[in-house]
Amino acid sequence: MSHPLFDLSGRTALVTGSSRGLGRAIAEALAEAGARIVVNGVDPERLAHGAEALRAKGHAVETAAFDVTDEAAVCDAFARLDAAGIAVDILVNNAGIQLRKPLVDLSLAEWDQVLRTNLTSAFLVGREAARRMIARQRGGKIINIGSLTSEAARATVAPYTAAKGGIKMLTRAMTAEWAAHGIQANAIGPGYMATEMNTALIQNPDFDGWVKSRTPARRWGLPNELAGTAIFLASAASDYVNGQILYVDGGMLAVL
Ligand code: NDP
Repeated sequence: MSHPLFDLSGRTALVTGSSRGLGRAIAEALAEAGARIVVNGVDPERLAHGAEALRAKGHAVETAAFDVTDEAAVCDAFARLDAAGIAVDILVNNAGIQLRKPLVDLSLAEWDQVLRTNLTSAFLVGREAARRMIARQRGGKIINIGSLTSEAARATVAPYTAAKGGIKMLTRAMTAEWAAHGIQANAIGPGYMATEMNTALIQNPDFDGWVKSRTPARRWGLPNELAGTAIFLASAASDYVNGQILYVDGGMLAVL
């Protein structure tokens, strides 16, 4: 029998960017722990396909297609959830993009797009979720998705690095303001995971070899290896865990 502290029955979780990749794996894990899930993405077809795959496994799934970088779209999405009587108890700010380019070649538009998608989105969606959690006075859980680049830089991914470093500090800022309302804001920092975002890197023998030699576990992570950490941070098991970033990285940040 599973431990009751990890039971998410009766809770609703919104996971941004959950039509595929890590977001979908996290949504599935929260559903397996008992939560009703609201999945999100920008591409409605991909979202419908992802939601169907989760429903086929017997999970309760709602869809909310919206662009996490668009303030009006985020507010409208929460208004639609309100109208449908769906209260978000758990928010996972997961939607993200990558763009690889040397810093000297980067345009302002490219910088802005990466910052908006990976960092500003967590503020926008987090603000709407927290406003409602505070008003309901039942607390809540916010899980922001960071990265190894929340701690360490790597060439050609400067805006992503700045955004993910920002995610670590935004998580602490949320904690400073919202912990007193019973909202636990924490982050997960995945290591190199085998998802669509990394297809080109996995297929590049040099990069693949570097990941495997640099990671103490000697392999890429699998999306479902975030499941336990996500359930922990979404559940009563983490009710006194605030403002932390938990790395799930096969040990990469622990060694030189
Ligand atoms: P994927 O590229 O596989 O999936 C990205 C998801 O985000 C898709 O569902 C996509 O929706 C959604 N998305 C992108 N832009 C927006 C937007 N503007 N509004 C709403 N949804 C959007 O990425 P991963 O699963 O690999 O990454 C997920 C998160 O994990 C990101 O924050 C990433 O930075 C982080 N991460 C990933 C690592 C990895 O190794 N893969 C390592 C460390 C962190 P759609 O299908 O509609 O495009």
